[in-house]
Amino acid sequence: MTIVEGRWTGPIWDTHMHLDSRGRGLAAAQDFANAGGTHLCLVHKPGFPNELPESLDAVKQAYIGTLDMAAAVRREVGIDVRVILGPHPVVWEKQIHTLGMEASTQLHLDSVALALEYCAQGDAVALGEVGRPHYPVSEEVWSAANEQLETVMRMASKAGFPIQLHVEDAGAQTNEELSILCDRSGLQRQRAIHHYAPANVAVDFTHDLSSSVSMGKHSVSTLLETYRNCTSTWTMETDYLDDPSRPGAVLGPKTVPKRTHALVSALLDIEGADEVEELMNHVHRIWPSALYGGI
Ligand SMILES: [Zn+2]
Repeated sequence: MTIVEGRWTGPIWDTHMHLDSRGRGLAAAQDFANAGGTHLCLVHKPGFPNELPESLDAVKQAYIGTLDMAAAVRREVGIDVRVILGPHPVVWEKQIHTLGMEASTQLHLDSVALALEYCAQGDAVALGEVGRPHYPVSEEVWSAANEQLETVMRMASKAGFPIQLHVEDAGAQTNEELSILCDRSGLQRQRAIHHYAPANVAVDFTHDLSSSVSMGKHSVSTLLETYRNCTSTWTMETDYLDDPSRPGAVLGPKTVPKRTHALVSALLDIEGADEVEELMNHVHRIWPSALYGGI
């Protein structure tokens, strides 16, 4: 039994967190562990705003920084860390204005290929965050972003790794457009994980993409309304940024454990303990294991 006296005692997985050696770093990971967190996806952090890598070598150094951070968390905090590497779509858009469209796109695709090499070697488990700008851009940039994303999806599908998507927030329409890109590129929809996803996990909203749900305040009630209509997979995330200049801009590292307990306690009012256990076993073990490697 993993529900003991109304409390989930199984694994707790945050599927999208950033850590920065100049931020709280290991201390933030320790907070997560102290709150009951056991597994995390450490997502590569782009050097916003003024440390954007301008060469593949600089990208490689930055990837190595993320891999080193993961190793330090495993060693010092003792939790399971899976690394997700990739070039951020906002970096690509910013660099169109400094490097030009052609060079920026080339660097982006080369960075994708490099991330997939780390995946193939077993040092990383997925590509991300990739996607498209979340703010309005010119029609030319938008169409280039979509073309590029389709290429990135094709590369990931060919390499056999899932991707975490950073995209705009236009609700079901965003997911529908992404599902079309998935189908065209050969990437299984479930292996395209909408990161920072709204808590609506019903199929008419997700279009069968997987959701890494942002576990803000109202996420629990929306999950309760929609989880029965999910035909894909969903997990929980904070998108903790670990940026000392923006404290409180995002959810803190203890949020996923906290909301897991809140969700379990609300579920136990409407479902039997066995059903709740089965659902949480999917959210924190079966689904993330299928995407990021077994536990
Ligand atoms: Zn992120």
